[in-house]
Amino acid sequence: MKRILIFTAGFGEGHNTAARNVRDAIEFLGEDDAQVDIVDLFDSCYGRFNELMRQAYITAINRTPKLWQGIYNLLDNTHLVEANIDSLVRMKKAMEELLIEGQPDVVISTYPIYNFLIDEIYKGRPRHFAQITVVTDSISVNSLWYRAASDYYLVPNDDTAHVLAEAGVEAAQIKVFGFPVQLEFARPSDDYRLPDLARGDSPRLLYLINSGKKKAPSVIEKLLEHENWELTIAVGRDDKLRQLAVKITAGCDDRVRIIGWTNQMPKLMMTHHLLITKAGGATVQEAIAGKIPLLINQVVPGQEEGNYELIRRANAGALAEKPKEIITWAERAFENSGQLCQTWRQNITTISRPDSALQIARFILDLAVPTNVPATPGGILHTQQATPTALHPHSDAPAHQRRLLLCDLHTHTTFSDGKLTISEMVDFYGQRGFDALCITDHLCDPKRLLGKLVNLTGLVIPPGELDDYFAAIEKEKNRAWKKYGLILMSGVEFNKDGYTPKTSTHLLGIDLKKPINPALDLKEIIGEIHAQGALAVASHPHKMRSIWGKDTLYLWEHQDEFAPLIDAWEIANRDDIFNPVGLKRLPFIANSDLHKPKHIHSWKTLLWCEKESEAIKECIRINRDVSITLYRDHRFGYGIDAASAAEKKVVSDVLSFPEPAAA
Ligand code: ZN
Ligand code: ZN
Repeated sequence: MKRILIFTAGFGEGHNTAARNVRDAIEFLGEDDAQVDIVDLFDSCYGRFNELMRQAYITAINRTPKLWQGIYNLLDNTHLVEANIDSLVRMKKAMEELLIEGQPDVVISTYPIYNFLIDEIYKGRPRHFAQITVVTDSISVNSLWYRAASDYYLVPNDDTAHVLAEAGVEAAQIKVFGFPVQLEFARPSDDYRLPDLARGDSPRLLYLINSGKKKAPSVIEKLLEHENWELTIAVGRDDKLRQLAVKITAGCDDRVRIIGWTNQMPKLMMTHHLLITKAGGATVQEAIAGKIPLLINQVVPGQEEGNYELIRRANAGALAEKPKEIITWAERAFENSGQLCQTWRQNITTISRPDSALQIARFILDLAVPTNVPATPGGILHTQQATPTALHPHSDAPAHQRRLLLCDLHTHTTFSDGKLTISEMVDFYGQRGFDALCITDHLCDPKRLLGKLVNLTGLVIPPGELDDYFAAIEKEKNRAWKKYGLILMSGVEFNKDGYTPKTSTHLLGIDLKKPINPALDLKEIIGEIHAQGALAVASHPHKMRSIWGKDTLYLWEHQDEFAPLIDAWEIANRDDIFNPVGLKRLPFIANSDLHKPKHIHSWKTLLWCEKESEAIKECIRINRDVSITLYRDHRFGYGIDAASAAEKKVVSDVLSFPEPAAA
């Protein structure tokens, strides 16, 4: 059981939100394997006093923002906290108990003060846990966040990573995963629909009134003057405000909705065009995840400035503090069939990381293996895979998002002539730590005579089962990702076999979204593959040495015509290596063309890119940071007694390696 302890505090909205979302994502991924506790020591140690402080904080940021800015700067620029850390005796004691009795594997702070206490407690002693700081602010990051020790600092975006790096935090300690938003942003329901402004649908505005309540009535009245605008007003837990809003909007029930506190924020954000809100850390991050442009009507000096700055730099909204400004900007956003609104939306999409919480959870679960935590004096830093930046001078994505990915993108299952079912394939590759797997069962051209014959054999996907095949892969994607962090892709190997090698082609469609008619001609198929954002790859394009292999040389013989259309050529297929692909400097990958478990001992592709299907495809298309490796699996033989019959079968199959050439 992995034990994970999260410290949070109720000052400002972001810390608790981040803590909750990280917990939910860990529980979603880790299931019974992880125990996560969230603790607010300010609340549990100082109860009523803490509540007074919290209220004072909220009042301060609303009524006396200048004073708050003074305090913020003081905390940023002096060692006030370090000097006064002793005054938090009660909290330090409570924390010590939690850490020593709870024996957590990972400790996470979403509020910076806790790290100072941990420093105090472990002065000169080794820590027995990995320590992670989830920075909830962007760009304007108070130095409190990184003055105390932490193994890793998880930040919401590249700009913030840059700020930390400039301040002297080691690059290896900074991880950009995005702000941890609710899981729903990454897994929206199919029925969330955003009306299409370009086709004349009504604009939908979402107005969150969390502060600046005095201005609210005037803003609502002005918004209502536009009769085709639909308005959702969220008033939180403020009953007085709700009554007021109901009164102002009387008679407009058909286009106004007033809601109280809600946990439906992902849905609301994904079904509205424009959000009016203050620049709160969590709200701005949720808007980015939900890809909704913002009109920001209040910025708390100090910590919220960075949140606004993020939107300004992305050009994904505007600052509109006065009611009149709000209306003017909304009008601009929606004029010309919502052109500006659409531009903002495209811009915000480029910085959106809706799956941030899952990425963070995966990172934490990986760290939470107790053996990962070496107890070295003076704190720990987990050993990391060295980042070979020198080898990758052309990398476009920041290096910390990239990693070495082990991929097999050409495999067969029982849907054609493979031995394993799709679900067995997921476990087989998942257990071996593969990062990406594409299932590419054979599909024959029914117009060709050979295709017609083969369609009768059951060794290719029967034409009537193509939809089932896609559905079956789709069904496994979630489990593959959840259980193994394995990206599962749907694909097809289009077999266009003639009577001679020179009239035969095998073409892979990798990461297809839906079936393609195999009777189309080759160029049409490639066009359809590309229209789906998928890759067209020439499989075993040159002469095979293996006895089993039948040569398919059509594409190779027609290179001039097809090279511009093909995304990559297999430079290796199982045991075969095709030197000419390398000599011609064609874009390449290597695959196992796995039909049975023992084929796992074969050539594979290694990619250096972000672990995400679009990034994987782009890496192959550009064909930079691609390498091939000869994969040998020596892990089998361990724990055989505990293995199931099915596993034993796989084991015995694998151990029969090396494959006799004539098999
Ligand atoms: Zn083939
Ligand atoms: Zn194949």
